[in-house]
Amino acid sequence: MRKKIVAGNWKMNQNFAQADELLFNIGDNMENNVPEDVELIICPPFVFLEMATDFAQNYEYKIGAQNISQHEAGAFTGEISAEMLASMDLEYCIIGHSERRKYFGETSEMLAKKVDLLLENDIEPIFCIGEQLEEREAGNHFDVIKNQIENGVFHLSIEEFANIILAYEPVWAIGTGVTASPAQAQEVHAYIRTLIVEKYGQEVADNTSILYGGSCNAKNAKELFSQQDVDGGLIGGAALKSEDFLTIAKSF
Ligand code: PEP
Repeated sequence: MRKKIVAGNWKMNQNFAQADELLFNIGDNMENNVPEDVELIICPPFVFLEMATDFAQNYEYKIGAQNISQHEAGAFTGEISAEMLASMDLEYCIIGHSERRKYFGETSEMLAKKVDLLLENDIEPIFCIGEQLEEREAGNHFDVIKNQIENGVFHLSIEEFANIILAYEPVWAIGTGVTASPAQAQEVHAYIRTLIVEKYGQEVADNTSILYGGSCNAKNAKELFSQQDVDGGLIGGAALKSEDFLTIAKSF
């Protein structure tokens, strides 16, 4: 059966001391708070990954990155490769976050390459998809999502796809305080699962974790996670407070 997952995306937040404190507080309060069948993943900025993987040796959470280069190696100043992350034993990486699509011009073609590089390095992509407000208002959100999935991850073999986590993040809900209603989230998650059934079959679809992201917090997580096809959350703002993050992690 598919994994329940709560992943925290710190984005470009926290300094060294704050990161240290947050990693400690989450780890130290996990016991009796996070159910055993929930995978807790923390995705800090690159510069704190070494610290985070050190902490993760003592605590039950896993560490992920927020992005990688689309290139394997070489003269790409400032970039970080999938192989570098693999050499630090990282298990997860967010790919295709709407902020990267919007502010860094990441196209589906680039994202497909990144997904391939991660899988070659045994890192599980948390692949983000989601529509803009105008696209939802125009009733185009299903087509947008289908397109993002087809062009980002449907080139994978069935074995490769088994290592993909999807995160449905409506752009209008990210960082806005406006959450998709549980019914809206469920509708899209069920649609995504149908696409997976059509492409890879029922068993693969049943085993794929689909997370919801977009102003998910300690108050609304339970209702969202109670939806049949919502397997957890990708959490931004609320992942920066250990108490809130842990409350979300036990909201299944
Ligand atoms: C995100 O950035 O992935 C996210 C879901 O952010 P927030 O929870 O702050 O809306």
